[in-house]
Amino acid sequence: MPQHDPSNWWMPFTDHRQFQHKPRIFTAAKGSFLTTDDHRQVLDITAGLWCMNLGHGRQEVADAVSQQLMQLDFAPGFQFANPQAMRYAKRICQHTPDEINKVFYTNDGSSAVDTALKMAYAWHQAKGQGTRQRFVSRMGGYHGINIGGTSMQGLANNRKGFPVLDCVDFLPHLLDIEHNAFTKGLPDHGADKADALNDIIAFRGAENIAAVIIEPIIGAGGMVPPPKGYLQKIRQICDEHGIVLIFDEVVTGFGRTGAAFAANEFGVTPDIMTSAKGITGGFVPLGAVFVKDHIYQTIVDNAPDNGPEFFHGTTYAGHPVSCAAANACLDIYEREKLFEQSGSALIQHWQDTLHSLREALPQLVDIRNYGLLGGITFAQQPRFPGNAGGAVHNTCFDRGLLCRGIGNHMVMSPPLTITTQEIDVFAATFIDAVRKTLN
Ligand code: PMP
Repeated sequence: MPQHDPSNWWMPFTDHRQFQHKPRIFTAAKGSFLTTDDHRQVLDITAGLWCMNLGHGRQEVADAVSQQLMQLDFAPGFQFANPQAMRYAKRICQHTPDEINKVFYTNDGSSAVDTALKMAYAWHQAKGQGTRQRFVSRMGGYHGINIGGTSMQGLANNRKGFPVLDCVDFLPHLLDIEHNAFTKGLPDHGADKADALNDIIAFRGAENIAAVIIEPIIGAGGMVPPPKGYLQKIRQICDEHGIVLIFDEVVTGFGRTGAAFAANEFGVTPDIMTSAKGITGGFVPLGAVFVKDHIYQTIVDNAPDNGPEFFHGTTYAGHPVSCAAANACLDIYEREKLFEQSGSALIQHWQDTLHSLREALPQLVDIRNYGLLGGITFAQQPRFPGNAGGAVHNTCFDRGLLCRGIGNHMVMSPPLTITTQEIDVFAATFIDAVRKTLN
């Protein structure tokens, strides 16, 4: 039997026929690198799955986790609290927008999304507006794998074949290569795509719409930053019609844009924000929903006298070990000023390096960036129809670079602690891999 045998593991989002033909196994990680079972070092330009914001192998997080495991390994979160969860909630609210001071813990990003959707319902019901049962999402959006989040998905493959909820309308995708190709940062064109929200409201009636859920920057849908003014317009329309605005910040939270959250970075405060991934630097699972005070208060004040006001929660919500990891990560985020990187030399170098690929690679039709996020789109490749990103991803991996190919896009989200030299290695390897694959 081989040393590592994956045959009993049904893996997520995996093509097992391909995987069994050529298994790819990681056995260790440190800093910006993963190590494979054949002892190769792979530069992790995706921060795992957009989560290892602090890089791999942080001793102080490992210490905090192991100490907490021996101090208080678990405490039920229904009607009982624990110090790590309380402390983290207090601390992180120093970084959320001013009006957002309530934290509801979840297990991951998917359960954060479904929690946020149910909160929006609960808030409207508490105000006596129970007819508001529809949602608005966006084409190209990714919102996790639970049935609520799956129903909000704007990615066809993620919905196909599943019994999704029939109460969602979709705003148009923001990718507009014709007008915005190779824009650095926020594109100039496309804020008017927010007007589609007015059309949906006119068609469905505001009294039937509970919430709009969008990623401030589209992630898995190709890494697409919002056009200038777009988020402000969405906020304004939601305000005019009493609609809850949910930002899914599972990717954009925790320093990814340069600030703590995209909401801070773009100066647009949603009513509810979801997060996961970077909250614990990816070291252990955790998710959280951050909520405006008045939403919480309305739900609590209008509940029946007995029993929970919000009939919702999971076994591991507020898990002391996950919250200990989150507190240790927040120590690092604060000490290393990783929520204050907007306009930093590192982000500038990331932008310059990404955009320098344009001259080297005629196969590219677009490059996008914001904070420490990057997106690249390849021209249609006859040899790899609709999957140039996947093809380049495979060559990159063979050459020691982990990036994420999605259709004809490549998306990047390096650890926030990446060095400029590592960014240069990324660019050189990427150029080499594209030339080799798509010549
Ligand atoms: N929302 C967004 C925007 C995401 O990118 C993801 C995961 N990539 C999720 C939700 C779901 O998070 P998880 O995989 O932790 O359930």
